[in-house]
Amino acid sequence: MTTHQTAISLKPLHSFQLPYSAAEIFTITEADEVTELKGDYLVLGEGSNTIFTCDFSRPIVRIAIDSIKVEESDDGFHLCVGAGVNWHRLVLHTLEQNMPGLENLALIPGSVGAAPVQNIGAYGVEVGELISSVTAWDREERKWCEFTRQQCEFAYRDSIFKRHPKKFVITDVRFFLPKAWRPRLSYGALADIDKNASAYEIMSAVVAIRNSKLPNPAQIPNAGSFFKNPEVTPKVFNDIVQHHPDVAHYPLENGNIKLAAGWLIDKLGLKGFQCGGAAIHRKQALVLINNDGAQGSDVLELARYVRRRVAKEFGVLIEAEVRLMGNDGLIEL
Ligand SMILES: Cc1cc2nc3c(=O)[nH]c(=O)nc-3n(C[C@H](O)[C@H](O)[C@H](O)COP(=O)(O)OP(=O)(O)OC[C@H]3O[C@@H](n4cnc5c(N)ncnc54)[C@H](O)[C@@H]3O)c2cc1C
Repeated sequence: MTTHQTAISLKPLHSFQLPYSAAEIFTITEADEVTELKGDYLVLGEGSNTIFTCDFSRPIVRIAIDSIKVEESDDGFHLCVGAGVNWHRLVLHTLEQNMPGLENLALIPGSVGAAPVQNIGAYGVEVGELISSVTAWDREERKWCEFTRQQCEFAYRDSIFKRHPKKFVITDVRFFLPKAWRPRLSYGALADIDKNASAYEIMSAVVAIRNSKLPNPAQIPNAGSFFKNPEVTPKVFNDIVQHHPDVAHYPLENGNIKLAAGWLIDKLGLKGFQCGGAAIHRKQALVLINNDGAQGSDVLELARYVRRRVAKEFGVLIEAEVRLMGNDGLIEL
């Protein structure tokens, strides 16, 4: 059933908790209801990757389709999951039912519907590897589409859905979790986990690591990694290494090099740096926080300052991973 509310505070609806309001919010609980929506609206999941920088006058559509269906075959488990299911709830559900595969992605905030949008990833796994298809309503063509994994065009924090922010509403995501499971422990932070650990034990270890490293948005409002890790050419990398031999990096298959944005920001001594009520977290340079009644302008000023300083020192333009929402749409830094 679609519900409709007006003049709603956005503070509890996004994890950065800025003090703005939405003119109207529709919440849909069945996939078919999406076909009745018309006009220019913003799709919102749990708001953990979206920062509202001002009051929002366009309609917001929250997707609350809540279903998990599982079919078993000889080689694995086929899941069809509603876009409104909480991501970590799905991870726990699969592991409790002895369906391993999602353990490295435990405790990532947000909804299942948003997971393919930026191809969520953590600890050496990206969700696109486990998605078999995505069902979405095409708002422009007004028709249902079924995207195979290849058609989703998954890349680092990117997909066809992210590149067309006003075109698709994802209603269901299908996953295939093979029975031939192997632990994925090559990522540095997981090196201490027992190689014979069960998927559930790996999930518990990931949860403990995340809790020790990342600020909990319920206590310190934030939107996770604010910037994406930049990819640079070998030439740019060599220039940086000359001045910063210890730069955190790892090579990519295409010959380029990925840099750790948090390392670059930390190197500039910006941990704890504050603009108005927005600040860089004291322990995690990649995380911007709403420290003290921040306004949207504080967040934008801080993010642009960080970007300028990184560009000046390292010659690298870092891009926002979070979606900064102005009233007219996405704000570019
Ligand atoms: C503390 C913290 C830690 C985090 N750690 C990680 C991490 O380790 N790895 C990682 O990848 N991300 C991480 N994130 C980011 C965030 O958890 C993910 O991006 C998550 O997928 C966002 O889900 P959401 O439902 O909150 O999305 P929202 O913020 O509500 O939406 C994000 C984008 O997706 C679109 N969208 C949402 N639902 C749909 C839908 N059904 N159909 C079409 N478009 C839709 C929205 O329009 C918006 O553009 C972290 C965030 C926080 C706060």
